[in-house]
Amino acid sequence: MDDSPEALAQLLSDAEHAIALTGAGMSTESGIPDFRSAEGMWQRFDPMEVASLQTFLRKPERFWQFHRPRIDMLSAVAPNPAHEAIAELQRRRVLHSLVTQNIDRLHSRAGSTDVIEVHGSLSRGECLQCQAMTTLEELVVKADGAADGVPRCDACGFQLKSGVVMFGESLPAAEISAAYEAAERADVILVVGSSLQVAPVSELPSIVRRRGGKLAILTEGDTPYDSVADVRLRGKAAVQLVETVAALDASQQRN
Ligand SMILES: [Zn+2]
Repeated sequence: MDDSPEALAQLLSDAEHAIALTGAGMSTESGIPDFRSAEGMWQRFDPMEVASLQTFLRKPERFWQFHRPRIDMLSAVAPNPAHEAIAELQRRRVLHSLVTQNIDRLHSRAGSTDVIEVHGSLSRGECLQCQAMTTLEELVVKADGAADGVPRCDACGFQLKSGVVMFGESLPAAEISAAYEAAERADVILVVGSSLQVAPVSELPSIVRRRGGKLAILTEGDTPYDSVADVRLRGKAAVQLVETVAALDASQQRN
């Protein structure tokens, strides 16, 4: 099989149950810095200091000093053509499940549904003490209204966090099992913009392959699965996915 958007389109249209797994490389074209890349955000901030459970518990004002501008940055960006192409593949029922490591909500904003957000989501606020939930809007109003910049829970007074999973915090159990269930049903997995280095998400391609499923990878950098990928695309996610949708159109016109 050749490594082209046409080959990816063919792989997806032959699948019974194709799923996608997306990571940071999906959103860099929307202007969101990739935390792990050389010029990524964590080169300037120490993640264990600013985005950890420990800092959230011990120094919530330090945590929120970093987190509050990040909410504005993530709210100001827009989905890019790669997000739109993924949403289009879902609408056409070419893609059946979507798992993302991204917390930026850009898949939902591009029209994707049932997004499995394994690293949590910016879309809500949570209380770790009493499990109360708020909307993102309430969270921002509370943070901006507090003298120390720390939003607090109406029910118990504890500091609120956003729905984004912090370093040192466990991943959301329901989302992780949904991701595993999707992989166990899949006969094709398309990886976009994930370097497949962070467990447990990095195990999803193995789960699909163990049952004879196919693997397609679209990233700019290398992944540990490159040598076993059935289709391996490099370059910009937006360009390659838009061409994949065009290739599906072309093959439907031929049939
Ligand atoms: Zn509470």
